[in-house]
Amino acid sequence: MEQAREVIELSLQKAQQIIETHAQELGALDAAAGDGDHGTTMLRGVRAANRAIAELDDSVSPGMVLAAAGSAFSDAAGGASGALFGLFLLTSGQRLDAGPFDLAGIHTALQAAAASVSRTGKAQVGDKTMLDALVPFVTAFGQAVGQDGVELVAAWSAALRAAEEGAAGTAGMVARKGRAARLGERSRDGLDPGAVSMCYVLQAVGEALTEVCRPQPKANG
Ligand code: ADP
Ligand code: MG
Repeated sequence: MEQAREVIELSLQKAQQIIETHAQELGALDAAAGDGDHGTTMLRGVRAANRAIAELDDSVSPGMVLAAAGSAFSDAAGGASGALFGLFLLTSGQRLDAGPFDLAGIHTALQAAAASVSRTGKAQVGDKTMLDALVPFVTAFGQAVGQDGVELVAAWSAALRAAEEGAAGTAGMVARKGRAARLGERSRDGLDPGAVSMCYVLQAVGEALTEVCRPQPKANG
């Protein structure tokens, strides 16, 4: 895909906007079962990611742009979620460069990224974490990609719906990882903040894809 770098850069800008809009909400979700810092953690991470990629020159590959964003995110954000979100971006970028840069290649990269988050955080679907949004996203994206003639924007939005359902499903789960797990049964109410912010980041990518991949109007109208 020729516009890969444009999509990645625009996605990160949009992720920053959307996290800025929802930082307070994310903090409040985290305050219910954790320490209330998730909004500020995500903000620090995504701002650092955008600053880091602004300094890269044109010769840097799209995957390496995303990988650099991930490293900067982890370094700046801190905490469990900062490290894991950064790792998600870093692994996605590294795998994207392994190519091919098509729907199947993007699916493989996302699968690898989700697997590395799961491995590093020792968490699975159902533990009330960001994986409860990410894993359904990757599964639904894979299903969409398997259909004939499906386009990236359509596959992404189908997958985003699955991520949002997954995040919604974290209400009612008992947290088994992270700070919220210390509360045991008392962590059951409320959405997992990391699952909600994962949806926002995936939504930002969807908006960037729609903007960049929108069919160009014909010159003669
Ligand atoms: P901290 O817990 O260090 O304060 P944040 O509040 O920024 O970090 O993020 C909390 C989020 O991190 C949780 O809502 C959850 O989605 C995610 N998280 C925590 N631990 C793990 C883990 N082991 N695996 C996956 N995600 C995790
Ligand atoms: Mg927290």
